[in-house]
Amino acid sequence: PVPPDAPWLKGLNPEQFQAVTATDGPVLVLSGAGTGKTKVLTSRLAHILASNLAQPWQCLAVTFTNRAAREMKERVGQLVGPVSDGIWLGTFHSLCLRILRSHAEAVGLGGDFTVLDSDDQTRVLKQVMAEAHIDPKATPPQGLMAVIQRWKDRAVTPDKAASEGGADGQAKALYRAYQERLRALNACDFGDLLLHVLTVFLSDPQALARWQGRFRYLLVDEYQDTNVAQYLWLRLLAQTHRNICCVGDDDQSIYSWRGAEVGNILRFEKDFPGARVVRLESNYRSTPHILAAASALIANNEGRLGKTLRPGLVHDAEAVEKIRTMAVWDGEAEARLVVEEIETLQRRGERLASMAILVRAGFQTREFEERLITTGIPYRVVGGPRFYERLEIRDAMAYLRLVVSAADGLAFERVVNTPKRGLGEAAVQTIHMAARAERVPLLEAARRLAGTDELKPKPRQALAKFVEDVDRWRSLLDSMPHAELAATILDESGYVDMWKADKSADAPGRVENLKELVAALEEYESLASFLEHVALVMENDSCAEQDSVVIMTLHGAKGLEFDSVFLPGWEEEVFPHVRALSESGTSGLEEERRLAYVGLTRARKRVLVTFAANRRIYNQWKSQLPSRFVEELPEPHVERSGERGLYGGGLGESKAAWNDPAWSRARFGQNRPAAPTSWSQPKARESEGGFTAGARVFHDKFGNGTVLAIDGNKLEIAFDKAGTKKVLDSFVSAI
Ligand code: ATP
Ligand code: MG
Repeated sequence: PVPPDAPWLKGLNPEQFQAVTATDGPVLVLSGAGTGKTKVLTSRLAHILASNLAQPWQCLAVTFTNRAAREMKERVGQLVGPVSDGIWLGTFHSLCLRILRSHAEAVGLGGDFTVLDSDDQTRVLKQVMAEAHIDPKATPPQGLMAVIQRWKDRAVTPDKAASEGGADGQAKALYRAYQERLRALNACDFGDLLLHVLTVFLSDPQALARWQGRFRYLLVDEYQDTNVAQYLWLRLLAQTHRNICCVGDDDQSIYSWRGAEVGNILRFEKDFPGARVVRLESNYRSTPHILAAASALIANNEGRLGKTLRPGLVHDAEAVEKIRTMAVWDGEAEARLVVEEIETLQRRGERLASMAILVRAGFQTREFEERLITTGIPYRVVGGPRFYERLEIRDAMAYLRLVVSAADGLAFERVVNTPKRGLGEAAVQTIHMAARAERVPLLEAARRLAGTDELKPKPRQALAKFVEDVDRWRSLLDSMPHAELAATILDESGYVDMWKADKSADAPGRVENLKELVAALEEYESLASFLEHVALVMENDSCAEQDSVVIMTLHGAKGLEFDSVFLPGWEEEVFPHVRALSESGTSGLEEERRLAYVGLTRARKRVLVTFAANRRIYNQWKSQLPSRFVEELPEPHVERSGERGLYGGGLGESKAAWNDPAWSRARFGQNRPAAPTSWSQPKARESEGGFTAGARVFHDKFGNGTVLAIDGNKLEIAFDKAGTKKVLDSFVSAI
């Protein structure tokens, strides 16, 4: 018997205690963010091991990321010592890979099979399509890949696949051919890891019985984001001992685009009759304001299971901060504000690693990265490369470098056949040889080769066209505004189109990043000065070891917690994302709202939500509407600022425009908007000293700035250098 004051049981509330110690039979823990679901799983593992209910290798625990698996293993290790090493703990993929290694032959693979990454997958699929004489232009391989992946998410093998599914009804045949080709290559893709294990389980009862007998305890975190294949896998494995404990929160289901099915939560009680359902209601992570705000926001979703959340810790009412929302003029002001806030917190002694900037889309990181670099604050982008290290940004920069400096050989190499122009290895080799022989840059060698018959006609024409394009772009360097030129280059080269045609899941994000790159350019005098800037920025090594601010996407932040959370870009069409808004029905919007809920509930102490009135998207300025989620944050828990000056009568009036399509048509413009008053409120409010919003002013201490909002004799001013501050208007003079 385990004493109730055992270290892994200490401090658990009664419901948590129940979920941890109810080791016999199926358990479903269904509860809101920060209620200790992950803690329950960790304690449960410790409890099982310490009570000798099972050997470590008889426990299987599934986490959403490898990182979460590492953390859980560490925590269990701290509680019960090194036996924790033997637990089968990992993601669905890693666990399936381990199982599949001992059954490879059963699915036609050798024991040393390889797992392909997504590039390799696409390459194999393209070969298969070519053999079937399918035009990759008419049927983009990435689109077909997505269809196949969705089949795999639902555990659909080629035999069971419906005959439709794109590619003129050939998807099913191509799926089969793709699977055969993978087998011939002794390889499988990520989706296969689960699919193959399921195939083994269903076709070899003895093997299944062995695994079922082995795993006495199954534990699953982030259960709301499992897909059908994963669910079937769990259900099969749990049949013998039926000791399965799943924890999840339907309000945090944010991966439906990857095949996750919240319905798995409802199926659980049906498939495991007599399951004990535990609800945890005390939140131990966030302040009452954060909790109340997150709960009110998510209450706007229909289709919820519904649950209560209340503060589990005692908070000092005086010290608790309300959620703050802040309207800012544009993205630059937003980055400035957030980074200033970070500096203030740092001065107060808060660790940088306890602060996170959580963005909706990857392109949003750039402005924060720039600002953090300028101010010398270490940061890391978790879950992806830093902005200027991203593939599409490197490609685009190579185009710009080649146009600015014709001798840049690396840039030439990078883009000469990206997008594909039919200039293969052989052609590029020939160019290299010519360049070496004549001691000229690659571009120059290419120009000469294009005039001879050393290359076959097709590559020769392609090369001639490429050189011609580069020459034309260079001739525009002095006459065309450089951001416009960059946009032209990316368009005319076919580079943006390449990503637009790409149907893979990350392609739309890459297009957004390219637009952001062009927007960034506007801040610099010329292409050359921009390229110089980036070279310098890139010199700043990432600082993984140092105490550093975390930047990541909301999707990546699931399960994590930070003292301070910054949520920028809460604007319609940014968040909720434009793609979700264009979906019919409300499911897209509701998933965005769940994402907002995930974002808010990552915070322990404070949240700052920001939204800009203007965004530069590509080389156009766009007036932005605050996100409907801003409005959904309940009044008593929120402190709002900056809205009045920017949105006239405040948010209420702009709300009507959310559903008005005319709004989105009317708000594009080439030039940086001059003043807030010109579009928000016809009659400008005046401060006592006669200042209006949008006026340029000078302040003794903070320098030049733009008036954002007016409140009697107080002005909120976005200073060019010092950030946004509230000052008395008697200290300010007009410039
Ligand atoms: P999410 O839904 O975001 O994944 P969760 O339900 O998994 O959240 P945990 O991450 O397990 O929640 O716990 C949130 C925080 O609350 C952690 O810091 C955890 O240590 C703490 N916590 C959980 N239970 C208790 C408790 N009984 N007493 C004190 N702190 C607790
Ligand atoms: Mg968790």
